[in-house]
Amino acid sequence: MKADIHPKYVETTIKCACGNIIEVGSTKEDIRIEICSKCHPFFTGKQKLIDTAGRIERFRKKYEKFQNDQKK
Ligand SMILES: [Zn+2]
Repeated sequence: MKADIHPKYVETTIKCACGNIIEVGSTKEDIRIEICSKCHPFFTGKQKLIDTAGRIERFRKKYEKFQNDQKK
């Protein structure tokens, strides 16, 4: 019989890049995030440049497809 099948549940903190620290209970320790409810533009109303590598990559692929379609 397995004695320890449940993941360890600990009190931990989520540290945001803006410096905000959120205390939570989690199975993971020292969670780091880049954006939280305190620094998200939606909540702050301020414009902030966020790394959107995934979105840029997706746009580039879409644009390449568009260029290829033009060649036909
Ligand atoms: Zn934050």
